[in-house]
Amino acid sequence: MKSKYILILLIFLGVVSCKNSKSTAEKTGYQGQGPNPIVSTKTKPVQKQWKGIWSFQDSTVFFSNQFDGARLNGVSHDSLNHYTLWITPENSPINPSPWYGFKVWSKTAQEIKINFSYEGSRSRYYPKISYDGLNFKTLDSTRFKLINPGEGEFGIKAAPERIEITIAIDNNPTWVTAQELYTSSRVKQWIDSLSQKSFITNYEIGKSREGRSMNLMEINESNSKKALLIISRQHPPEVTGFLAMKSFMETLAGNSKKAIEFRKQFAIFNVPLMNPDGVDNGHWRHNFGGIDLNRDWQEFNQPETRAVRDFLKSKNEEGYQYVFGADFHSTWDDIYYPLDTVVTGQKGQLVFDWIDNIEKRLPKKKANVSASKKLHPTMVSRNHFYAVYEMPAIVFELGDNTPRVFLKEKGKVAAEELMRLLMD
Ligand SMILES: [Zn+2]
Repeated sequence: MKSKYILILLIFLGVVSCKNSKSTAEKTGYQGQGPNPIVSTKTKPVQKQWKGIWSFQDSTVFFSNQFDGARLNGVSHDSLNHYTLWITPENSPINPSPWYGFKVWSKTAQEIKINFSYEGSRSRYYPKISYDGLNFKTLDSTRFKLINPGEGEFGIKAAPERIEITIAIDNNPTWVTAQELYTSSRVKQWIDSLSQKSFITNYEIGKSREGRSMNLMEINESNSKKALLIISRQHPPEVTGFLAMKSFMETLAGNSKKAIEFRKQFAIFNVPLMNPDGVDNGHWRHNFGGIDLNRDWQEFNQPETRAVRDFLKSKNEEGYQYVFGADFHSTWDDIYYPLDTVVTGQKGQLVFDWIDNIEKRLPKKKANVSASKKLHPTMVSRNHFYAVYEMPAIVFELGDNTPRVFLKEKGKVAAEELMRLLMD
């Protein structure tokens, strides 16, 4: 107590300045979200998006949501070259992640202005543009206008209320999406191409609510029964988390000496797309049961979480022991959410050592760590993994706007440092 008063006195005298102290400087950046409130995960109704083509100007200008991953709920023609779009969620209440995706084209080449409006939400995602539906780039900033900008640096309040974009259109469609499009078929193509390697297989571990395959990729040429579990995309718009996970998996499956040695000792189970219905239906957050899947790891009311729960159990009964788990997500900026060592003890220290090693190798962009001291109820995947299997696990979050080159590098470095630590 005494030292505290001395410190206050020193601050008062100007001897110690809090503003410039190191501990304050380290606390910049996104601090993370608070604890999750307990919610029921019983199935709720979801509004299925109307699919079709809107045509304007005597059928010369067209908007379409007829593709997987699209979300466009209404279009109005306001004036000569000006349109307003409505983007609405699958149900509510819902996390503020207004995903959008549409195609637009015109019989005659022209420039149009498009205003986006979101029911009860704000404009979180910066538009991505594509001319083939596969290769996307961010919209040129000179063609982007904020309407009613937000306040602060992070969180939905920092996002503008609406946006307006200007794009040149012609007879070939232009795709406009909230993030790059990685639908269930594109993710399947990726795991199929990786599965060309002799030690990689992929197979279905269950069906989603709408009947899509829950695919698992298994990397396995190991002599032991130690295994890793890597999942991503419980939340459909979280493409940056998926991209880091993709690089992470490609590194574990790669040809480096370390990866070859690692695979002799560890098997890797990967569910790259936890919510295929949400992704293909262009959902903001939920599965087709209207539920945030990352709140369902206690009640298991949804088939997607049940598929992974049952898979883990069956492999465990075959003798597999889980030594590490990661669930990749996206949020306002890069951040790590491990379980605190007050819960996990020495076993969970691995996760903190790993984070330190990643951060040392990537000093250009620092990320905060927000450790959770609460294990129960196990609504989120990480807590289920630890509570049932004592699997040291993390929620690995990447920023919505984190540069794509950096995402790839971070996924690779994260895999390399994990292999090093687990083999030590
Ligand atoms: Zn998420």
